[in-house]
Amino acid sequence: MSSKWVYGFHELDTVIERCNDDWDDVRGLLGGKGANLADMTRLGVPVPPGFTITSVACNAYLDAGGRMPDGVNDEIVVALRDVEERAGRTFGSPTDPLLVSCRSGAKFSMPGMMDTILNLGLNDHTVEGLASVSGDRRFALDSYRRLIQMFASVVMNIPGDGFEKILTEVRVARDVSSDGDLTAADLEEVVARFKDLFRRSTSAPFPSDPYEQLTMAIKAVFESWNSKRAKAYRTASGIPHTLGTAVNVQAMVFGNRGSNSATGVAVSRGATTGEPRLDGDFLINAQGEDVVAGIRMTSTLDDLEAAMPEIHAELQHYATLLERHYRDMQDIEFTIENDKLWLLQTRNGKRTAQAAVRIAVDLATEGILTKEEALRRVTPDQVEFFLHPQFDPEAEATAETDGSLLTKGLNVSPGAAVGVVVLDADRAERRASENDESIILVRPETKPDDVHGMLVSAGVLTSSGGRTSHAALVARQFGKPAVVGASELVIDLNERVITVGDIVIHEGDVVSIDGTTGEVFLGSIATRVPDFDDPWLMKLLEWADAVRRLGVWTNADNPEDAERAVVLGATGIGLCRTEHMFFAPDRLPIMQDMIMASTTEDRLEALSHLLPLQRGDFAGLFRVMKGHEVIIRLLDPPLHEFLPDRDRLASELTDLKIRLISAGSLEEIDALLAQAEEADRLLKRVETLHESNPMLGLRGVRLAVLFPEMPRMQIRAIFEAAAIVQEEGVTARPSIMVPLTSTAGELEALHDIAAEMAETIELERRIEIDYRFGTMIETPRAAVTAGELAETAEFFSFGTNDLTQMTFGISRDDAERNFLLHYLETGVLQSNPFNTLDRQGVGKLIESASLAGRAVRPGLHIGICGEHGGDPASIALVDALGLDYVSCSPLRVPVARLAAAQSALDLAEQENTTDT
Ligand code: PEP
Ligand code: MG
Repeated sequence: MSSKWVYGFHELDTVIERCNDDWDDVRGLLGGKGANLADMTRLGVPVPPGFTITSVACNAYLDAGGRMPDGVNDEIVVALRDVEERAGRTFGSPTDPLLVSCRSGAKFSMPGMMDTILNLGLNDHTVEGLASVSGDRRFALDSYRRLIQMFASVVMNIPGDGFEKILTEVRVARDVSSDGDLTAADLEEVVARFKDLFRRSTSAPFPSDPYEQLTMAIKAVFESWNSKRAKAYRTASGIPHTLGTAVNVQAMVFGNRGSNSATGVAVSRGATTGEPRLDGDFLINAQGEDVVAGIRMTSTLDDLEAAMPEIHAELQHYATLLERHYRDMQDIEFTIENDKLWLLQTRNGKRTAQAAVRIAVDLATEGILTKEEALRRVTPDQVEFFLHPQFDPEAEATAETDGSLLTKGLNVSPGAAVGVVVLDADRAERRASENDESIILVRPETKPDDVHGMLVSAGVLTSSGGRTSHAALVARQFGKPAVVGASELVIDLNERVITVGDIVIHEGDVVSIDGTTGEVFLGSIATRVPDFDDPWLMKLLEWADAVRRLGVWTNADNPEDAERAVVLGATGIGLCRTEHMFFAPDRLPIMQDMIMASTTEDRLEALSHLLPLQRGDFAGLFRVMKGHEVIIRLLDPPLHEFLPDRDRLASELTDLKIRLISAGSLEEIDALLAQAEEADRLLKRVETLHESNPMLGLRGVRLAVLFPEMPRMQIRAIFEAAAIVQEEGVTARPSIMVPLTSTAGELEALHDIAAEMAETIELERRIEIDYRFGTMIETPRAAVTAGELAETAEFFSFGTNDLTQMTFGISRDDAERNFLLHYLETGVLQSNPFNTLDRQGVGKLIESASLAGRAVRPGLHIGICGEHGGDPASIALVDALGLDYVSCSPLRVPVARLAAAQSALDLAEQENTTDT
């Protein structure tokens, strides 16, 4: 092994050779920052010259109890000579001194954990040189006092208070409020007093020898590897303590040397929309921190192009080069010193969801990425962005919106919402229904009792709680934008005001929250639903469709939802919940008549009124789906759901009886008696239907077996609708799905009804009915006896909502209101099984049921239609289990398309690795 300790930034090839071409080892030896600086240098990017002292040197130094290994100092001197030559300045020169920075840089980024010292090389003589070459004595003295202060704290561990006290005293004496207002003469005094404090604190003068400064700084950075905070950070992030840190010594460049100097930040493509053009900000005659601090108004790079066209062209050239090299959009820090461009850092840039999609697609179109790589660059959450309302970026930029940033919290449920602040759930419900207001429910935290208020609100904001808090879980579940844990909000529920610092917000004031970023704004900001015809998203999803194996279908109960889902890319309806069709005001009374019927005849009479309505519903779906499969589920919920509430009926009846006592006229008595009789009849029926555990009672297939008139009507409506649209020239592909099946006998009973009805309609209409008959798998027994069910069922659809409830033996509503949060917070459960399929339990049932079903009926078509159908992790699981499709709500369809493509790519990759 080579014993070279120090490598110039231009010596990357030697390092690569030493590391046998292993880039991971290069990063280990030079640290992430050193490796990148060397990589940029090798690319020919103008990086200020410098060198890296390896992490091996750091470990040797620490192992030797703080003694520099032999040879390191000599190598540093040689490397520094080289830097001097490249920079055209000499370290310690009293006329044009080279200054260097000394920064830590470990293999893995540990932001802010270790030390940095800037401006090394300044002393009483060199500071004069810097003053004269920069033409700015104030700047030179300010750099000098910063060096003493930083050196004292980092290298000598002198507490910073003494230095701050001196600065304050000088500011007070000169009657100025900020350090920036101190003059060169003031700073001269500061430097003198700093040196004095340094001497008093260390019993030694501030080292004026630049080499001594440098060696002491390097040792201090080595030692900062073992600082308390660095150790704690490594323990928390799982970074091995044995790695050590490299140290980068680099020539300082200054953007504040006059009107031909500048400093700025550039992105190789727009971070907001992804537009392929260089974008960014800069400041003439300024230091890096001036750009970031936002004290001075920055200019755009268009102004740079106007002011310094060659430099702009050069920057553009390097931005393109770096983007191609790192194969991603770059965020670049640059400095211009006396008309010379320097690049100080580059990294993959942060971007909005919209930009992420466009950049991925553009990079693939330009041949920089493959389509598969582009598909992996975008997350399903970023696709979701296109489906939720967002703040209009243009509106945000104008003054009319009055929306200034109030505070930030955790971005737990995406989307933007604007509304009046309401501080409790009951009031939210009242204001929403009485005034039809858009509401932001603001609470310290939410509880199950608040759910009704959350449901009527446009968004939810809390001052405490984390990503798995009740508010976060419920908001995500109902697709409400939410920001939680905005700890700056002080909510006074008695006075009904919120304060943030000096700002007071009263209940009823308007705020805007952005669940995608976690930002909270005062006042109202215009929102818009981003166009789903974004051409880059369309392209990406087209690529996704070409890669994925899983079909993506939708759960839709009416033509409007189906239409929306088709626009979003669904190619089938995996679940039409027919019960939703009976809740409409014109249908509920007929449904109630059907339930109240005491004879089969009466029941048939009511059903005959429902038949044409259902037929119309199904024909509508077939027309929209134009030959794609439509799976219609027979009635599922318990009948009491269609009747009024038992307690409400009982109290109405009592009320009527009281009114009867005091009724005046005979007519009034008659009317009240009739009403009471009707209420009594209803109540009796409700009471007969009452079950102690309705979700496990008379519902699903059991209803169909007990009252076969109902499925007969539904199946007739399905077949008649198919016949009607076929006559219009539209292909219909109906499938009949039986809910909550547990036994093969149940399925056979329904199959007989379907077969008989098909025959009847074929005779009546003289057409052939092409349909499939299948079942949901929602009970563990159905999963375990799937082989038997497959004798009758031509397809399976896993109802993973119920299957999860029944496998765990827990009711979702009760769990989410009570113990689930506790389970998640304490780690009893890793994730909410109602959001992400439980791999070990429910996943196993799906796996064995699919295998058993296909053993009996090869090619059995299988999908899932619970809420998991739109969850990327669950999609990956069912893809791995070989299912055919997922069915999800319309808005999840694009998310599922990308997730299915990513899962297909992962599976292909796993297969390749197993093959090799
Ligand atoms: C299911 O149980 O997963 C399902 C889709 O049915 P529902 O949600 O209507 O009970
Ligand atoms: Mg179900």
